[in-house]
Amino acid sequence: MHIETSRRRVLQMTAGSLAAAAFRDLSALAPPTVASPSAGRAPHGTFEPLPLGQVKPAGWLQRQLRIQADGMTGHLHDFWPDVGPNSGWLGGTGESWERGPYYIDGLLPLAVLLNDEHLKAITAKFVDWTLTHQRSDGMIGPAGNDDWWPRMVMVKVLAQHYEATGDARIIPVLTRYFHYQLAAMPDRPLRDWGKFRWQDEAYVVEWLHQRSGDPKLVELALLLQKQGFDWVGSFADFPFKEKVDKKRILQETGGENNAQGYQSHGVNNGQALKTAAVQARMGDVTTNRAGFYRQLAALDQYHGMPTGMFTCDEHLAGRSPSQGTELCTVVETMFSLEIALATFGDAVIADRIEKIAYNALPATITADMWAHQYDQQANQVQCSLNTKPWTTNSAESNLFGLEPHFGCCTANYHQGWPKLVASLWMRTADDGLAAVLYGPCEVNTTVRGKTVRLREETEYPFRNTIAITVEPQEHLRFPLQVRIPEWATDATVTINGKPHEHGVRAGAFATIDREWHSGDRVEVRLPMQTRVSRWMNNSVAVERGPLLYSYSAGEHWVKLRDRGPTADWQVFPDRAWNYALQVDEKSAPQLGATEGEIAASPFSAESRPSSIQVRANRLDSWRVEDGVAPPPPVSPVQSKSAVETITLVPYGTARLRVTVFPEAAG
Ligand SMILES: [Zn+2]
Repeated sequence: MHIETSRRRVLQMTAGSLAAAAFRDLSALAPPTVASPSAGRAPHGTFEPLPLGQVKPAGWLQRQLRIQADGMTGHLHDFWPDVGPNSGWLGGTGESWERGPYYIDGLLPLAVLLNDEHLKAITAKFVDWTLTHQRSDGMIGPAGNDDWWPRMVMVKVLAQHYEATGDARIIPVLTRYFHYQLAAMPDRPLRDWGKFRWQDEAYVVEWLHQRSGDPKLVELALLLQKQGFDWVGSFADFPFKEKVDKKRILQETGGENNAQGYQSHGVNNGQALKTAAVQARMGDVTTNRAGFYRQLAALDQYHGMPTGMFTCDEHLAGRSPSQGTELCTVVETMFSLEIALATFGDAVIADRIEKIAYNALPATITADMWAHQYDQQANQVQCSLNTKPWTTNSAESNLFGLEPHFGCCTANYHQGWPKLVASLWMRTADDGLAAVLYGPCEVNTTVRGKTVRLREETEYPFRNTIAITVEPQEHLRFPLQVRIPEWATDATVTINGKPHEHGVRAGAFATIDREWHSGDRVEVRLPMQTRVSRWMNNSVAVERGPLLYSYSAGEHWVKLRDRGPTADWQVFPDRAWNYALQVDEKSAPQLGATEGEIAASPFSAESRPSSIQVRANRLDSWRVEDGVAPPPPVSPVQSKSAVETITLVPYGTARLRVTVFPEAAG
């Protein structure tokens, strides 16, 4: 038995009869309600994330993380004062709230995954300061504020640091802090951001409980839940079924940050998508599983975008593809879904993570990762200073730059790629391993007391084949699960060239339970077919496998101002974008993709990993207004323009694009 699992079970036996029983032993969960992919196959349970550092990037993901380290992420400490040497989280007089912890929450896993000594040295400064400046009563962080919220981010950092290093200082410091908080919260309850983001801390409290068995941690998790906002319950009667009315937000006392403002806030909603999973870890799995899907479905139905995200600029913004989605929300939603995937174990959650990670994330950051947006739009036809239709954000929100509109994203976006890589593989409830998300990587871990190395070679999501080489220290029997995405209806799995005897089913995990010998090779083939999804006004978006496709309107970059080693940019199209597509559900599968070069920077405009040719008509009546494409007119539309063949490219490679199109009448 894996040592971590056995230790946890022992702890549960010793502390388990106390209040600690309120925490659920997820390894003992009944299988989820999704149907078993094949007869005779063991039902899949839930997963446990592997400790940070056991999954390392390879191939294009290694390049992507290196681009990130060589870009803004690796240099921010040197030139952006908010996370610089004068940070309050280093004892300085500078920014003392969320930005220091935000930055290290992404920089730390990046440094570990790249084994980058320079980046590790920066993260060590923040971690060491926090550990060595704990107050005698247990409080951590800068003395300048006593807000619980920024500390909720720092405890996530400390948990990651422990996983990567085993630093013996972490568990005592976290324990003292959590005991202090448990004693202080009755008099100083959660408020503002902390009240709406309590679930992030409760996740770490549960994480620590798995390792220490301390029953006070159960009390703290329950108190956080009690004082925190009831996210899961609030979706039983979801009040935001349209773009949030700015007046409604501002009229209430407290301006934008009143209760309705917090509840309809995009980043809060992204973070809230882990609430059901955290509550399931605290006890009731069945109710919370249903609550998770109800929450996701409401965001999709009223605010959903084909990127897998929802609009929020700054508040929930409805179905128009010209509304914005904040970068903080993208990375926070990914992290929430990574926790939901581990907790509920469903393949569809992994499909959603890939959709966001391989489309929404790269599209909103420049290919060199030196500039990013605050808000991205699915239909983004210019990034200019024109007035925008945002709920409460400013005109600069969709510019690319250092800190367009506001610097939260500048501090917070760094967690996106590294946490994705760390989540590619997870441990199964029966002490096997699962490929839950796909991307090139290498895993070095322990299974049933033996070291196991796995090499996953693939150019997914740009190509459809994933080759996994299993290298156990000595031959070893354990179950290995591979995910078959819901869209992969013709998937095949072979082991050493022979088809998997139990067959596979889309939208589920296939389990290969056998004795593994060094060099055994599993090949997963996920043929991709072009498909159409429907959006506002019966419009269409074109998808293929995990990728979303857009028409690129070209990119003319105009520098607005220098910002130290980077700059703020407007971007203008250099060709027409107003097309209606001649495509529907029936004709889409006939549209093949042409494979091209995957550039060194895979999501650059020069990269053409794949493209799709489609017939289209210009739609003269659909014209830019105030710097945005108006909502697509109701489909099907009539156009008298000549038929043209246009090329669609991966969304993540196009910083200006149309993604949600009117359908042209045939
Ligand atoms: Zn932000």
